[in-house]
Amino acid sequence: MGKKSTKSVRDLLFGDLWEYAPAPQSSGFVDLKDHYGHFINGEFVTTEETFETINPATEEVLATVSIADDATVDRAVKAARKAYDNVWSKMPGKERAKYLYRIARMIQEKSRNLAVVETMDGGKPIRESRDVDVPLAAAHFFYYAGWADKLEYAFPGATVKSLGVAGQVIPWNFPLLMAAWKIAPALAAGNTVVIKPAETTPLTAMLLAEIFQEAGLPPGVVNIVNGFGETGAAIVNHDDVNKVAFTGSTQVGKIIQRAVAGTDKKLTLELGGKGANIIFDDASIDQAVEGIVNGIFFNQGHVCCAGSRLLVQENIAEEVLTKLKHRISTLIIGDPLDKNTDVGAINSRDQLDNIKRLVDIGEAEGAEKFQPRCTLPDKGFFFAPTVFTDVTPSHTIAQDEIFGPVLSVLTFRTPDEAIEKANNTPYGLACGIWSDKGSKLFRVASQLKCGIVWGNTYNRFDPTSPFGGYRESGFGREGGVQGLLAYLEVR
Ligand code: NAP
Ligand code: MG
Repeated sequence: MGKKSTKSVRDLLFGDLWEYAPAPQSSGFVDLKDHYGHFINGEFVTTEETFETINPATEEVLATVSIADDATVDRAVKAARKAYDNVWSKMPGKERAKYLYRIARMIQEKSRNLAVVETMDGGKPIRESRDVDVPLAAAHFFYYAGWADKLEYAFPGATVKSLGVAGQVIPWNFPLLMAAWKIAPALAAGNTVVIKPAETTPLTAMLLAEIFQEAGLPPGVVNIVNGFGETGAAIVNHDDVNKVAFTGSTQVGKIIQRAVAGTDKKLTLELGGKGANIIFDDASIDQAVEGIVNGIFFNQGHVCCAGSRLLVQENIAEEVLTKLKHRISTLIIGDPLDKNTDVGAINSRDQLDNIKRLVDIGEAEGAEKFQPRCTLPDKGFFFAPTVFTDVTPSHTIAQDEIFGPVLSVLTFRTPDEAIEKANNTPYGLACGIWSDKGSKLFRVASQLKCGIVWGNTYNRFDPTSPFGGYRESGFGREGGVQGLLAYLEVR
């Protein structure tokens, strides 16, 4: 017998011929301005100090963007207050709904432009911005439009009242979608808004502002201010803000919670996570492998609810890991604007450095690193999909949120051990369970300390379904009827 070939059947048959032809999404029609300011009282205004937003896949500057200082934030809050007092809080729900429906339809109409700009500004694959981010953003506006004239039915027996001005701060991983998650329920409930997008991804929020203007949304109902953390802090600390909604890191969430303590501002925090994807030996393995890949490599792993810890039952670990490594070797990494791309660019150089730092720690602490053979583009910020085995719960990479395409694999023997390991982090946002036994699925789900549990799937989102965490993943829910609670006084 000759030596056994280590080549796959695909390699033997097709070799290098088995390559996808490039399928670039054209971006020629995108008409970005050189400079974006803020959207205050229905108008675009610029302020002197600026920063640049780049395309993380090419490092090219896309536009300069104004920075809002305290005075600019104050102007935005004043516009929101005036719009709340004079227009929005007095408008019947069915009239508010018409604006929200109009905005939803316009997001659909402009979906191609929005998707391309989202991909250019943030680095996510066009397939994801086109098929997930933009349709879901429209769906959120549609869904909450439906609630605007039915608020008294949302919480039977209670009376409800809007809060006033909502101050909102969002991260860079789903820029348009996070804006929709925040703005749609706030407006449906009758509040007005001042929101700050993340500094690396301000552009789709500015396109959304153009939609608000075109939709004829009354001036001041939504105000968008750009800038860094200080701008976010100015919104949070403003005396005339009634509600603060923050999505971002646990670290900044804690700062905000301290800042809001002792005031009568209502607060919701959607923070980090370290989700466990639990695979039992009775699961459909091939389906689970797809779920593992989707759980951690979707949006380069820049997902708060990512399945960044794989908990696999010991007796199937070898089979699952062999199939997983094979599957990862087929992922296409590179140009986010190519429709074949599975894993796009890391959002920023800072985030890339952070991922590299944590991966180095993983290796230094003795975990075994696997990366597929792949060539990363010379320019831009890219990181190969990475799987760590031999991970124990005490490893840094089993505890800290990496927020990148890095999976930590742990094993377990019994359902109880799986539950204990899944709960062994400071976070509590999301988990996945894979099993063909419904009873096992529900029993395990009921004991997981996290806000979202997916059964035989992962990373599924729907505007009708509440989303949010426990413990260091924050509190409050976004989406569903529960999402209205954050924006209403319920008595
Ligand atoms: P981040 O550093 O906390 O930033 C989030 C937003 O807060 C940005 O707009 C940021 O401005 C702003 N900010 C920074 N310091 C601030 C301060 N002191 N006061 C007020 N605002 C401030 O988080 P990130 O790195 O952008 O986002 C990643 C994190 O978000 C991850 O931990 C992820 O898990 C979490 N996340 C959670 C959810 C969820 O629903 N639970 C969803 C998505 C993401 P700059 O843009 O200038 O930094
Ligand atoms: Mg950018």
